[in-house]
Amino acid sequence: MVKLASQTHTLSDKKTLLADRSQLNELRFALSTTLQSTLELDTTLRLFFDHLNQLLRCDGLIYRYDDKGIELQIGTEARHGANYRISAQHDELGSLDFRRSQPFAETELATIEMLIGTLFYPLRNALKYREAVEGSLMDSLSGLPNRAALDLAVTRELKLAQRHSKPLSLMVVDIDHFKRINDTYGHLTGDAVIRDVAQCLRNTVRETDQVFRFGGEEFVILLSETELNCAKASAERVRQTIQTLSFAQNARELQCSVSVGLASLSMGDTFDALFERADKALYEAKRNGRNQIQYAVEDIKQEIKKIA
Ligand code: GH3
Ligand code: MG
Ligand code: MG
Repeated sequence: MVKLASQTHTLSDKKTLLADRSQLNELRFALSTTLQSTLELDTTLRLFFDHLNQLLRCDGLIYRYDDKGIELQIGTEARHGANYRISAQHDELGSLDFRRSQPFAETELATIEMLIGTLFYPLRNALKYREAVEGSLMDSLSGLPNRAALDLAVTRELKLAQRHSKPLSLMVVDIDHFKRINDTYGHLTGDAVIRDVAQCLRNTVRETDQVFRFGGEEFVILLSETELNCAKASAERVRQTIQTLSFAQNARELQCSVSVGLASLSMGDTFDALFERADKALYEAKRNGRNQIQYAVEDIKQEIKKIA
């Protein structure tokens, strides 16, 4: 059922090598019950690691699942290792790398392998849960994190910015006259424009900036550790880059532009207040003729105060 591929060891007769079979069975039972209490991948691995350490000393455990871009480390790195690929029939579940300063003895490897059997189903469930959570935070059209993901990120970013007195700016980006694009070229072309604009936003901002599809043809960008002045330059780059995008449509060139509303976090700000200022600025950009950036008036005043 559980296929274990040890890179470094072959085991001749596990039965004779196991140090204390009854202790191991007890622990396997306890572990299997404990693992039912969580669906979180890191907690699952942590519980497994803690139980293993009741039987033998292990300094670290690295879980890798390259296809899903997962690498989780528990404990510390150490010189010696034992690596196991976890799979059963059609289920590939990644690999476990046990690390220790001293080499593992054969009996210890046999113990590890017995315990891994307990991990298979909890690990599979945790991976499925992780996929479901990630899916619910992802917008399927643009591939960007969605509004629910923004809510989570905002709580974290606001806390960090306020705790460490770091600046934080927010951009609301809205495609201009998008309804016309839909009406003229059809919804599928409209979808393609949303996808390309999303990709373009991602490529234009810094790696540390977070881009979300807020809804429809509207995007939100969180710029951590960024003052209004820097955010302005970033917003201008976004505006200009989108303007150069071109979509070939029935031998005609389709182009689009965006309007951007910008605001920066002030002392004691809530996210709703910050968002409202950026949204008002966006409204101003639309009113002033679109394809432009506007900043929240209060934030400009603050900046003038700072310079003076
Ligand atoms: P403005 O410049 O003032 O922002 O005008 P607009 O036309 O961009 O804005 P409006 O709010 O009038 O229209 C937005 C349209 O976007 C209406 C809605 O049907 C369309 N839309 C929302 N989500 C999607 C989507 O996922 N795909 C497509 N193709 N259209 C969408
Ligand atoms: Mg629009
Ligand atoms: Mg809109």
